[in-house]
Amino acid sequence: MKSGHEQRQLYHPLPLQEVVNYFMGDIDKGLSAEEVANRYEKYGWNELTFKPGKPAWLRFLLQFHQPLLYILLLAGAVKAFLGSWTNAGVIWGVTVINAVIGYIQEAKAEGAIASLAKAVTTEATVLRDGQPLRLPSQELVPGDVVLLASGDKVPADMRLLQVRNLQVDESALTGEAVPVEKSIQPLPSDTPLAERNNMAYAGSFITFGQGKGIVVATANATEMGQISQSMERQIPLTTPLTRKFAKFSRVLLYAILTLATLTFAIGLGQGESWFHMFEAAIALAVSAIPEGLPAVVTVTLAIGVNRMASRHAIIRKLPAVEALGSATVVCSDKTGTLTENQMTVQAIYAGEEHYTVSGGGYSSKGEISLTTNDGSASPFEDDDDLPPALEECLVVGLLCNDSQLKQEGDDWSVVGDPTEGALITSASKAGFSRTRLTATKSRLDAIPFESEYQYMATLHDGEPRTIYVKGSVEALLRRCSQIANHQGQPTALDAKAIGQVVNNMAAQGLRVLAFAKKEVGAHQHSIDHEDIETGLVFLGLQGMIDPPRPEAIAAVHACQAAGIRVKMITGDHIATAQAIAHRMGIQTQGETAAFEGRDLTDMKPLQLVQATEDASVFARVAPAQKLQLVEALQSKGHVVAMTGDGVNDAPALKQADIGIAMGKGGTEVARESADMLLTDDNFASIEAAVEEGRTVYQNLRKAIAFLLPVNGGESMTILLSVLLSRELPILSIQILWLNMINSITMTVPLSFEAKSPGIMQSPPRNPNEPLITPPLLRRILAVSLFNWILIFGIFEWAEFTTGDIAVARTMAIQALVAARIIYLLSISQLGRSLASCLRNRYGSVTNAPFLIIGIVVAIALQILFSQWGLMNVLFETAPLNWTQWLICLIPMVPMVPLAIFANRLDPS
Ligand code: ADP
Ligand code: MG
Repeated sequence: MKSGHEQRQLYHPLPLQEVVNYFMGDIDKGLSAEEVANRYEKYGWNELTFKPGKPAWLRFLLQFHQPLLYILLLAGAVKAFLGSWTNAGVIWGVTVINAVIGYIQEAKAEGAIASLAKAVTTEATVLRDGQPLRLPSQELVPGDVVLLASGDKVPADMRLLQVRNLQVDESALTGEAVPVEKSIQPLPSDTPLAERNNMAYAGSFITFGQGKGIVVATANATEMGQISQSMERQIPLTTPLTRKFAKFSRVLLYAILTLATLTFAIGLGQGESWFHMFEAAIALAVSAIPEGLPAVVTVTLAIGVNRMASRHAIIRKLPAVEALGSATVVCSDKTGTLTENQMTVQAIYAGEEHYTVSGGGYSSKGEISLTTNDGSASPFEDDDDLPPALEECLVVGLLCNDSQLKQEGDDWSVVGDPTEGALITSASKAGFSRTRLTATKSRLDAIPFESEYQYMATLHDGEPRTIYVKGSVEALLRRCSQIANHQGQPTALDAKAIGQVVNNMAAQGLRVLAFAKKEVGAHQHSIDHEDIETGLVFLGLQGMIDPPRPEAIAAVHACQAAGIRVKMITGDHIATAQAIAHRMGIQTQGETAAFEGRDLTDMKPLQLVQATEDASVFARVAPAQKLQLVEALQSKGHVVAMTGDGVNDAPALKQADIGIAMGKGGTEVARESADMLLTDDNFASIEAAVEEGRTVYQNLRKAIAFLLPVNGGESMTILLSVLLSRELPILSIQILWLNMINSITMTVPLSFEAKSPGIMQSPPRNPNEPLITPPLLRRILAVSLFNWILIFGIFEWAEFTTGDIAVARTMAIQALVAARIIYLLSISQLGRSLASCLRNRYGSVTNAPFLIIGIVVAIALQILFSQWGLMNVLFETAPLNWTQWLICLIPMVPMVPLAIFANRLDPS
């Protein structure tokens, strides 16, 4: 290799061989292992390095970038100006503590989400030492030969060596949304990036066809790397909900500012001192704003994301967490998501005979026997002559096939497509081996399977050269003009009769594949879709079982109980789909509505909307139609979760409220467009994610229900005391303590609450429902009123009896916190299960260590707050004696019935 990348050598003007020589590559073999090791030394991993994000100090300072904190900082400044230095120090101190907590929480949440994103790797198919390998794309080096197929993400910049209808979506790089058709001819050196058709650039996607290319640049040397070096990696932490919160607090702030100004004016009018009124106005502003709320929202969302990850659902976009909680429809693929994707051929139809295949899994143990009416079957032995039609049907299944079986001990597994794995197994049960067959029938060309076309074709050498085709019955039958009879001779085809056989097989839930062939001239060495438009000879059918996943059946029931409709969307045959849907309880006995993709095309928009409402099974759906289905459902107000795995599923995944891609199977394109990935490709994980999404929302509501009444009580108290021209029962710094220190210690444990047992028994939340529903508002008002009476009552009484205003204020605060503990318990699961324990004398207490820690820490802090001399100076509190402490506990008693009442008012 001549030189590094420093001079930005251009590769598009060079002839192919020159580029290959330049990198000392090999088109057919790729690089050797040693060479790769050398190049790692030189070029490093194929990973973009991002500029480090904002520096820590800046992120810390940004914590102060909130209107409320401006007010506090200003208040502190005014206090300092007026000479109350301690007061100013405390206010500033509290804001710093708040910023520290906010900073830590934000960093944690970002870290959690970033590490999840990292867990998802992009893979690429690379030729190394002559073998195609599937590797994480970080492991590529310049000179590697990469095989590209539709659905892949281009892993590095490469010069294309071979293309076959290769189309690439380069919108990430050029902004051009229409995919570009690629070629391999050298281009003039001044060709702009967007027109360099013989190159494929990292970060773009293959939307169609296949190709082969040699890596010319990796990591930061790629075009993408050149752009990204000036970008920051950022994980947005905002969601519709956090935006709602932000808006809510802004409105609140303006309302409070107006009110505070008013208070100030009224007080002055009544002849109060400047100093006193300023304190009151600040106290009001501070008291009314739930300072702890933003932190709680971020933490709750981050915890939700983590919990989902531990249940195999990886969130890529944070808003999905919320959308999951209100999902009303889940549209799921059948194969692999609802079913096991463990295919075994059980029935074969060839040469007008039916055959039964025994054995399970992918091992070649098992036999093929003629199905007779009386059940007496004699299996074929390895050396028996199979009927020619059966033989051809099996051979096509084996050769028109891109997958392999892998054996580890007694375990057989598929590398590739399970449908194809099953066909290898059925052929090997009759003694066929691919290696032996390809000696005479080597493969010359292939058209790989795409959902669009529903078939795959291969061209094989031999006497004569033959095209083998396998695919869906519908796709093949209309291309066939003849059928092979028992002896393998082409005869007239009765499509109706075949249709009947297919229906019978599919009704048992079998996935049916059809096989066909076409002989061609000896000059033909490549094939195209046109070559198999007509004139195929039908060879037979193979029907395979793909059992439903037991846990998916349970999950379907759970969704239905939770008021979520489950719809199956599949490319498979309608009868197969219905049989499986029926077995899984997706389609109930009475419910017959199932549609095929082609039914949908003919529908008027309104009919389509009705159809998506009514039916639970959509079969032979082309990927493009998924988008229509999502839009139709959304037009009815549904919140739609939709799975997808192919390139063409991307638009539907983006449109859906929760686009779900498969982490194991599926293409990079689908993954990139999705909001969530399933690491186990399992429907049950969608249900789990919905459950966690609902829990997140419930925990947020709990936090609101817990926080706001204290703010309510405090502000009512301040307002009243100003109106009555009385001493403030609670000072602004004390309110800061309550709202920032005490509230956060007691509320954060609520974000850790486990899901409540009934969470999947109620219908989905209306997505348009306001955050604070009328029942929640009533609850907040009721408890606020109580808190108000409590603060005001204890303060007035204590001041009257002791004459010490500091003691009176301290007692009011301690009493408020004591009552708050009871209220916290009444909201939490711990409290609720304790209550049900007492009532029923049994029941399980949820493990809520966080809650207990929160309460213990809060109590310890309160003791310091009044008994420690330093705190007395800082917060103008006073130590309490035993009797006074006991009196502070009294409000806990009336809190019990109030909490029960509040839970009745607002049961959720
Ligand atoms: P799904 O995954 O929902 O079953 P697909 O789009 O993958 O839908 O498949 C649609 C149809 O295409 C299948 O019913 C089958 O008849 C056919 N098919 C599936 N996989 C292959 C394959 N590897 N080769 C040829 N035909 C296939
Ligand atoms: Mg499939």
